[in-house]
Amino acid sequence: MKLLIVEDEVKIGDYLKQGLSEAGFIVELARSGLDGHHLAMTDDYDLIILDIMLPDISGWQILESLRQAKRQIPILCLTARDSVDDRVRGLELGADDYLVKPFAFTELLARVRSLLRRTSLPSNDTTLRVADIELDLTRRRVTRAGKRIHLSAKEFSLLELFMRRQGEALPRSLIASQVWDMNFSSDTNVIDVAIRRLRSKIDQGFSDKLIHTVRGMGYVLDVSDEA
Ligand code: CA
Repeated sequence: MKLLIVEDEVKIGDYLKQGLSEAGFIVELARSGLDGHHLAMTDDYDLIILDIMLPDISGWQILESLRQAKRQIPILCLTARDSVDDRVRGLELGADDYLVKPFAFTELLARVRSLLRRTSLPSNDTTLRVADIELDLTRRRVTRAGKRIHLSAKEFSLLELFMRRQGEALPRSLIASQVWDMNFSSDTNVIDVAIRRLRSKIDQGFSDKLIHTVRGMGYVLDVSDEA
């Protein structure tokens, strides 16, 4: 899941970027409204965290421009002002949620996850299931055949990507960009090592192996064809 933060205050921007990266998201940070607007219009994000008070163009203008361009990305607005007018204006312009500064990081993270769930899953179901694996997006828990599996944030993101695209052979380049924000020219050994670790946690001790290597290309998560 890839997020864009548009925030001119250096400390807040760095703090949010670090916290959200540690929570397993790929995070890009724009420190001005114009940079943020450009990135939001040209790159694909799953969610944008948008500060309203920016020195060049305001968060309102960015919001309005994105909605006019029919970019349906969920947007969480940040503002220092807590007035009903602002809230109404934000929601009218198409903000999906609203957080007043100062806020606790845990609150922001909860809002981000809730927005992503609301927009990425068709129903209220927040659990992904493939074979006997269950991945609970709300509680960030994974089980296989009812047995709890402990994953790092990156491993969780990796498994989430595999489960959302079950049966699809995913090239290393795609995995790199979705989970690590690296491009294909980067060292793909990182990916192979992480997948080996994920595989041992998911598949070891089970006769049905779910994560498979696609030779010369990448990986796929699928239930095996063997009866
Ligand atoms: Ca600001």
